[in-house]
Amino acid sequence: MAAIRNEDSLIRSIELRFGAKRGRQLPLGVGDDAALFSPSRGHQTILTCDWFLEGTHFLPDLHPPDSVGWKCLARATSDIAAMGGTPKCFLLSLALPDTHTGKWLNEFLGGLRRAARRLGCDLAGGDTTKQKDTQISVTVIGEVRTGQSVLRSGARPGDLFYVSGRLGEAELGLRMLRRGRKPTRSRDPFLRKHLYPEPRLALGRWLAENKLATAMMDLSDGLSSDLPRVCSASRAGALVEVENLPLATVRSARDGKKIDLQQLALHGGEDYELLFTVPRGKAGRIPRSFRGVRLTRIGEVTPTRSVRLLDRSGREAELSPAGWDPFHN
Ligand SMILES: [Mg+2]
Repeated sequence: MAAIRNEDSLIRSIELRFGAKRGRQLPLGVGDDAALFSPSRGHQTILTCDWFLEGTHFLPDLHPPDSVGWKCLARATSDIAAMGGTPKCFLLSLALPDTHTGKWLNEFLGGLRRAARRLGCDLAGGDTTKQKDTQISVTVIGEVRTGQSVLRSGARPGDLFYVSGRLGEAELGLRMLRRGRKPTRSRDPFLRKHLYPEPRLALGRWLAENKLATAMMDLSDGLSSDLPRVCSASRAGALVEVENLPLATVRSARDGKKIDLQQLALHGGEDYELLFTVPRGKAGRIPRSFRGVRLTRIGEVTPTRSVRLLDRSGREAELSPAGWDPFHN
């Protein structure tokens, strides 16, 4: 990558990495004052943006730049999956210190481009500036057939709660990184889930197209924080069965004893799995796994507006939000 002399050369180097993508939906590509976007006929445009800040969402000495690039786009795209939509393009706002315009930027753009290709989401434009810490904001533009988007507010008492994948895996990956596990050489599934999450786009779309989900959201902050958001939007409550939670599977029983996998599943953040509700009558149409991703019924929607946890001995207790919250102090 050529040396960065000024903002124009920084922008050019980003454009070069992504190529001049032009198509019917994105006729200009990158490079004019603003991008033009044409949604498909009969579709609504979905807009979502997500901060990814050094010190808050990633740590410079822990997270490889390649992962920062992948993850800033993947986590923003997860919100499109949660609506049942398809990502189309994204805008990148990037503030960097001088020290990050060489090798760091090169690797960051490498991870970002891999994610863009994997998710089918082209760079449409953005903005760059200089700043002491690295600050990234990604806006993803997607679409969904009109009337097919799945909102948080559609859950009805009696519907069943499901989650995709296993919960707490990304948090386990973060703990491994913190304990000094090298991110580059490991193919460990927990590290991968933390560093290179895969938004559940195909699942979200399938649930929306087949009208199976009444409500849906992605799990970014942790089940105990996110599930009450679906309940509150739907003016309902939930009863979650601890026994049914899909816990992370650790390799040895010794590891399993050391770590409270149930607490991780309830409160661990950044799994980017989907939480969704299904009417009881349609539950038979939900497979055990979808394209290799496990689907698990974890509880049901209740008319009383509290979120409760049913433990193995049949006792019920209130579930308090204890996931990620940047404003918690
Ligand atoms: Mg979300």
